[in-house]
Amino acid sequence: MAGREQRANAITPVELRHLLEGPVSRATGMIVWTIGQRRGIEGIEPVVTGSVSIQDCRLRIQFNFQSPWHVSLTFHGNNVALRRVCVNGHDRKVPGRVHMHTYVPADGNERTVGLADFPACLPHATVEDIDFRKMFEAFAVLCNVDVGSIDWVDPPVEGVN
Ligand SMILES: [Zn+2]
Repeated sequence: MAGREQRANAITPVELRHLLEGPVSRATGMIVWTIGQRRGIEGIEPVVTGSVSIQDCRLRIQFNFQSPWHVSLTFHGNNVALRRVCVNGHDRKVPGRVHMHTYVPADGNERTVGLADFPACLPHATVEDIDFRKMFEAFAVLCNVDVGSIDWVDPPVEGVN
Protein backbone atom coordinates (compact mmCIF):
# COMPACT_ATOMS: atom_id res chain seq x y z
CA MET A 1 0.00 0.00 0.00
CA ALA A 2 1.24 3.44 -0.82
CA GLY A 3 1.26 6.24 1.71
CA ARG A 4 -2.13 7.70 2.32
CA GLU A 5 -3.40 10.93 3.68
CA GLN A 6 -5.34 11.01 6.92
CA ARG A 7 -6.69 13.90 8.94
CA ALA A 8 -3.98 16.16 10.34
CA ASN A 9 -3.21 16.75 14.03
CA ALA A 10 -4.90 13.59 15.34
CA ILE A 11 -2.01 13.49 17.82
CA THR A 12 0.70 16.03 18.60
CA PRO A 13 4.27 15.33 17.42
CA VAL A 14 5.36 15.21 21.08
CA GLU A 15 2.69 12.64 21.98
CA LEU A 16 3.55 10.52 18.95
CA ARG A 17 7.25 10.54 19.80
CA HIS A 18 6.43 9.72 23.42
CA LEU A 19 4.25 6.81 22.27
CA LEU A 20 6.85 5.39 19.87
CA GLU A 21 9.99 6.10 21.89
CA GLY A 22 8.93 6.73 25.49
CA PRO A 23 7.73 4.30 28.16
CA VAL A 24 6.60 0.99 26.62
CA SER A 25 2.85 0.54 26.15
CA ARG A 26 1.23 -2.80 26.90
CA ALA A 27 -1.15 -4.96 24.90
CA THR A 28 -3.78 -6.82 26.87
CA GLY A 29 -5.98 -9.87 26.51
CA MET A 30 -6.52 -12.16 23.56
CA ILE A 31 -6.17 -11.47 19.86
CA VAL A 32 -9.56 -11.74 18.17
CA TRP A 33 -9.76 -12.69 14.48
CA THR A 34 -12.67 -11.49 12.39
CA ILE A 35 -13.43 -12.56 8.83
CA GLY A 36 -14.90 -9.70 6.83
CA GLN A 37 -15.89 -8.96 3.27
CA ARG A 38 -14.02 -10.44 0.30
CA ARG A 39 -12.47 -13.05 2.59
CA GLY A 40 -10.36 -10.44 4.35
CA ILE A 41 -9.40 -11.28 7.89
CA GLU A 42 -8.14 -9.14 10.74
CA GLY A 43 -6.89 -9.70 14.25
CA ILE A 44 -7.19 -6.91 16.82
CA GLU A 45 -5.34 -6.42 20.09
CA PRO A 46 -6.15 -3.53 22.47
CA VAL A 47 -3.23 -1.49 23.78
CA VAL A 48 -2.96 0.42 27.05
CA THR A 49 -0.76 3.48 26.48
CA GLY A 50 -0.76 5.26 29.81
CA SER A 51 -1.71 8.48 27.98
CA VAL A 52 -5.24 9.82 28.40
CA SER A 53 -4.87 11.80 25.17
CA ILE A 54 -4.66 8.69 22.96
CA GLN A 55 -8.02 6.98 22.52
CA ASP A 56 -8.88 3.52 21.22
CA CYS A 57 -5.30 2.38 20.78
CA ARG A 58 -4.84 -1.04 19.20
CA LEU A 59 -2.61 -3.25 17.07
CA ARG A 60 -4.17 -4.85 14.01
CA ILE A 61 -2.92 -7.54 11.62
CA GLN A 62 -4.73 -8.11 8.32
CA PHE A 63 -4.51 -10.35 5.28
CA ASN A 64 -6.91 -12.04 2.90
CA PHE A 65 -7.24 -15.69 1.99
CA GLN A 66 -6.58 -15.14 -1.73
CA SER A 67 -3.09 -13.70 -1.13
CA PRO A 68 -2.21 -14.21 2.54
CA TRP A 69 1.42 -13.22 1.92
CA HIS A 70 0.27 -9.59 1.65
CA VAL A 71 0.16 -8.77 5.35
CA SER A 72 -0.78 -5.36 6.74
CA LEU A 73 0.03 -4.41 10.31
CA THR A 74 -1.41 -1.22 11.78
CA PHE A 75 -1.00 0.65 15.05
CA HIS A 76 -4.16 2.71 15.54
CA GLY A 77 -4.89 5.52 17.95
CA ASN A 78 -7.29 8.46 17.89
CA ASN A 79 -8.86 6.94 14.76
CA VAL A 80 -5.77 7.23 12.58
CA ALA A 81 -3.06 4.76 11.58
CA LEU A 82 -0.08 5.99 13.60
CA ARG A 83 2.28 3.42 12.14
CA ARG A 84 1.83 0.70 9.49
CA VAL A 85 3.98 -2.07 8.07
CA CYS A 86 3.25 -3.58 4.65
CA VAL A 87 4.69 -7.06 4.04
CA ASN A 88 5.00 -7.87 0.32
CA GLY A 89 3.23 -4.61 -0.44
CA HIS A 90 4.37 -2.28 -3.18
CA ASP A 91 5.51 1.24 -2.69
CA ARG A 92 6.82 3.22 -5.63
CA LYS A 93 9.25 5.15 -3.48
CA VAL A 94 10.61 2.34 -1.31
CA PRO A 95 12.14 -0.83 -2.77
CA GLY A 96 12.18 -4.13 -0.89
CA ARG A 97 9.75 -6.67 0.52
CA VAL A 98 8.72 -4.73 3.63
CA HIS A 99 8.20 -1.04 4.35
CA MET A 100 6.86 1.05 7.20
CA HIS A 101 4.64 4.15 7.15
CA THR A 102 4.54 6.58 10.07
CA TYR A 103 1.89 9.24 10.53
CA VAL A 104 2.99 12.87 10.21
CA PRO A 105 0.73 14.98 12.45
CA ALA A 106 1.41 18.29 10.68
CA ASP A 107 -0.29 17.31 7.42
CA GLY A 108 -1.82 13.86 8.02
CA ASN A 109 0.53 12.29 5.49
CA GLU A 110 2.94 9.41 6.09
CA ARG A 111 6.70 9.06 6.12
CA THR A 112 7.79 5.76 4.50
CA VAL A 113 10.97 3.76 5.04
CA GLY A 114 12.09 0.27 3.98
CA LEU A 115 12.60 -2.44 6.62
CA ALA A 116 15.37 -4.89 5.75
CA ASP A 117 15.20 -7.01 8.90
CA PHE A 118 11.47 -7.57 9.31
CA PRO A 119 10.42 -11.28 9.47
CA ALA A 120 8.57 -11.36 6.14
CA CYS A 121 7.12 -14.38 4.36
CA LEU A 122 7.74 -15.26 0.73
CA PRO A 123 5.20 -14.35 -1.95
CA HIS A 124 2.72 -17.20 -2.56
CA ALA A 125 3.21 -18.65 0.91
CA THR A 126 0.10 -20.32 2.35
CA VAL A 127 -1.65 -19.35 5.58
CA GLU A 128 -0.22 -22.44 7.28
CA ASP A 129 3.32 -21.47 6.23
CA ILE A 130 3.17 -17.87 7.40
CA ASP A 131 4.36 -17.00 10.89
CA PHE A 132 1.84 -14.25 11.62
CA ARG A 133 2.78 -14.25 15.27
CA LYS A 134 6.41 -13.46 14.51
CA MET A 135 5.33 -10.55 12.30
CA PHE A 136 2.91 -9.29 14.94
CA GLU A 137 5.59 -9.42 17.63
CA ALA A 138 8.15 -7.65 15.40
CA PHE A 139 5.59 -4.97 14.60
CA ALA A 140 4.77 -4.51 18.29
CA VAL A 141 8.47 -3.83 18.96
CA LEU A 142 8.42 -1.16 16.23
CA CYS A 143 5.38 0.38 17.95
CA ASN A 144 6.97 0.30 21.40
CA VAL A 145 4.28 -2.10 22.65
CA ASP A 146 4.90 -5.06 24.94
CA VAL A 147 2.86 -8.06 23.74
CA GLY A 148 4.57 -10.52 26.06
CA SER A 149 1.47 -11.20 28.14
CA ILE A 150 -1.21 -11.47 25.43
CA ASP A 151 -2.94 -14.70 24.51
CA TRP A 152 -1.91 -15.25 20.89
CA VAL A 153 -4.32 -17.23 18.73
CA ASP A 154 -3.35 -18.34 15.22
CA PRO A 155 -5.71 -17.14 12.48
CA PRO A 156 -8.16 -19.61 10.98
CA VAL A 157 -6.72 -21.36 7.93
CA GLU A 158 -9.78 -20.93 5.73
CA GLY A 159 -12.37 -18.24 5.39
CA VAL A 160 -16.05 -18.51 4.82
CA ASN A 161 -17.22 -18.79 1.21
ZN1 LIG B 1 2.57 0.37 2.32
